[in-house]
Amino acid sequence: MLRQAVGWLLDLLYPPACAHCQRIGAAWCESCRGRLNSLGGSGLVRELTPNVQAVAAHKYDGLIRDAVLAFKFQRAITLAETLAAHIAATITAASLPHSVIVPSPSHPDRVRWRGYDHIALLAESVANRTGLPYVYALKRTAWRGPQVGRDAAERRRAVQGVFAFCSDRVPASVILVDDVITTGATMTACADALFSAGVANVACAAVCFA
Ligand SMILES: [Zn+2]
Repeated sequence: MLRQAVGWLLDLLYPPACAHCQRIGAAWCESCRGRLNSLGGSGLVRELTPNVQAVAAHKYDGLIRDAVLAFKFQRAITLAETLAAHIAATITAASLPHSVIVPSPSHPDRVRWRGYDHIALLAESVANRTGLPYVYALKRTAWRGPQVGRDAAERRRAVQGVFAFCSDRVPASVILVDDVITTGATMTACADALFSAGVANVACAAVCFA
């Protein structure tokens, strides 16, 4: 909360520039929001494991990459709706089974640091748009630093055993939501925690594949 208040004050004193076109005024400007809205998704599919399929709306570059970074690091919170629309369209196009939407959980310390739980905002909006139920069914018990710069094996080690199932009902099918899927280490570890709890089907949906 304090961090958020300080952030708003800083925005007043030093107005942010749009993360894509650098126009002064907001971390993501209306013109770039329009461009983002009109961006058609490519509906990409990846097999993360033989049991876990992932879908994403885009490749992680250009306008969409800037939008994800602004949403994640520059408090462009209203981008949750815009980015969620892309994920929701991808889920609908992929005809995934009726599922519960579960966010890839952030560690509480990271949420405090950021001032908002960006993936939970994204997943809630995806649930609203698809009409699927939203459940915060996983929690993250440890944070071992950002995955950027790590190879696939290091990424797997960093998320090993850090996710725990925390819902009182076990859904049959889950769609895990995240912003960007790189090697799939986080999604695979989340899926393992869901399978261990008794979930039968797990799929993943993200804005981008890096
Ligand atoms: Zn802009």
